[in-house]
Amino acid sequence: MKFISTRGGSAVSGAEAIVRGMAEGGGLYVPETIPPVSAEELNAMLSMNYPERAAFILGKFFDEFPQEELLSELEKAYARFDGDDPAPLVKIENGLFLLELFHGPTCAFKDMALSVLPYLLRKSCGLLGIKEQVLILTATSGDTGKAALEGFRDEQGIKVAVFYPDEGVSKMQKLQMATQDGDNVDVVGVKGNFDDCQAAVKKIFRSRECEEKLREKGVLLSSANSINIGRLVPQIAYYFSAYCDLVSSEQIAMGDLADFAVPTGNFGNILAGYYAKRMGLPIGTLVCASNRNNALTDFFRKGTYDKKRPFYRTMSPSMDILVSSNLERLLFEISGRDSALTIERMKALANPGRYSIRAEELKELSQTFYAGFASEEDTVECVYEFFEEFNYPLDTHTGVAMHVARGYCRKRAEDVNAEPRPMVVVSTASPYKFPQAVYYALTGNDVKDSFKGIKRIHLITAMKVPESLKALRYKPPRFKTVVAPDKIFEEVLNFVG
Ligand SMILES: *Cc1c(COP(=O)(O)O)cnc(C)c1O
Repeated sequence: MKFISTRGGSAVSGAEAIVRGMAEGGGLYVPETIPPVSAEELNAMLSMNYPERAAFILGKFFDEFPQEELLSELEKAYARFDGDDPAPLVKIENGLFLLELFHGPTCAFKDMALSVLPYLLRKSCGLLGIKEQVLILTATSGDTGKAALEGFRDEQGIKVAVFYPDEGVSKMQKLQMATQDGDNVDVVGVKGNFDDCQAAVKKIFRSRECEEKLREKGVLLSSANSINIGRLVPQIAYYFSAYCDLVSSEQIAMGDLADFAVPTGNFGNILAGYYAKRMGLPIGTLVCASNRNNALTDFFRKGTYDKKRPFYRTMSPSMDILVSSNLERLLFEISGRDSALTIERMKALANPGRYSIRAEELKELSQTFYAGFASEEDTVECVYEFFEEFNYPLDTHTGVAMHVARGYCRKRAEDVNAEPRPMVVVSTASPYKFPQAVYYALTGNDVKDSFKGIKRIHLITAMKVPESLKALRYKPPRFKTVVAPDKIFEEVLNFVG
């Protein structure tokens, strides 16, 4: 399978797409054709475990990787997760399910792909005969950074530099990153919000001059952000797996449609669901849930994406994003894979800051996507009520998705022609990863200290506390540097030495 860029140019191999991270001129790689999964294949997946299902899906895209090695690497990666199943589907009540994706080493769904990306990158470098040092440069709204650091730490021939918005991540997220072990890692705060951080990092990727300067030092740049196709493909696997679990547990018959609700920031997670649907997985609606930073809600409702709007810091910080990078891939797909039009729209997004899609495109999107958002109050109320009703503590990001999902389900219930369908809400973080916000949602009280928050949530909910978060309490921070966005490249050069 070859990969092409949303902004045109020639096709490249999977290995090349993974190593490059971003295509020339800022484009994103997508598969040249979307590989179908047949009904027989889907049936065969029913009896597979998670690593086998994931290996099957990855094999559809990355066919130059030896299938047996891929499976053994996926088994190794997911063996580091808590429990036997890295992506368990939990039944809440009839027709409502949570897909728990937070059992990995850093307690957020980013582990699903970032536990696998190191192998994909190492293997890709091998396939391409790359001898240079690879630098993974990553902008993070909090969770990607930690998952990338953990995934790549002490990996030979690879260095990782993570940049996060100094005032835009939770205390726990900051502590997780600042205490990171490993001789090949750097963690730096950036003055500004995630969009400033992401824009500055993307600029380095697009700059020939930066590329040259790094090449002089024998360094090749790659990305662990969800712009990397090696992030996106492993995420497709859990949609298939959740669907198989619905069928295996006789919640639905094979072929019946299921809906998924996804708490969305950079549009990576939900885009994987879109590709799963395009591959033939019987997905009905993809519910795109935003917090108060709801550029995506407006986009899906009105057909105009407008980044010129106030930026809010919320209790779901990993979704505090105004420019959702992966939307470019969706635009490319719905435009009939028109790269010239995609370039035009991305230019308009840069300046004047907005673009609109055609009425037919909007109509097509509305057949797959439903969009909504949760205010801070909605989120608090949802987490509180959900715990009252089901005795299950949601994290605040998942709370956003649950609020929007339930709104959608109510709307569907009013439609006499609509068949009932199961709703799978994708749960992206452990509630213990955002203890202050979750404690506030559960009790209406503030707690200053994150670890006190963890203890109190545990007392209320009896949910098991992840060991990796407990251990943070006694780890001294290693990284304290904070820089302005325009100083990121300087910091990178210092780090690579
Ligand atoms: C990253 C993240 C999201 C948003 O995912 P995208 O792929 O950026 O849309 C939602 N919730 C949590 C906990 C996250 O870490």
